[in-house]
Amino acid sequence: MTAIVDPMRIHTVPSSAPFADPGREYRESEPGVPVRCCLRKSLPGEPVWLLRYSPPFGKGPYAEVGPIFLHVECSDSPAPDRLPEELLAGSRILRSYNAAGQIHDGEVVEPGSFDRVVERLFDDPEVDAVQVRSVSHGCFLFAVTRA
Ligand SMILES: [Zn+2]
Repeated sequence: MTAIVDPMRIHTVPSSAPFADPGREYRESEPGVPVRCCLRKSLPGEPVWLLRYSPPFGKGPYAEVGPIFLHVECSDSPAPDRLPEELLAGSRILRSYNAAGQIHDGEVVEPGSFDRVVERLFDDPEVDAVQVRSVSHGCFLFAVTRA
């Protein structure tokens, strides 16, 4: 079951992001990779971009760049107020940022407790945004803010 995290907002990567990276790579089919446009795993035969991307909310020295996948043409739009169940099937890093874009804290979260941990993080007025990342590769998946 997908949790409703109201009054929070899920941030995906805009479909224009690949065009800011001249080194982006086109992949005719790359099944099973997490696509940051619609927040699910890619299916066989779905073309994707592999690109460098700087996730929102980290600023200055905390603005990182890393690899992400996006659909070349995305027809899905995930619910802006629901955690994407398919990308939360494993452990994830929840990294919180303050309003200045500095890392506030980070922790590894297990499946089944994401909504509870996100709500707890936003109980802290210092927390402005949360980035959700993979544990194994550290890759950015999506961001969460208060609505
Ligand atoms: Zn997509």
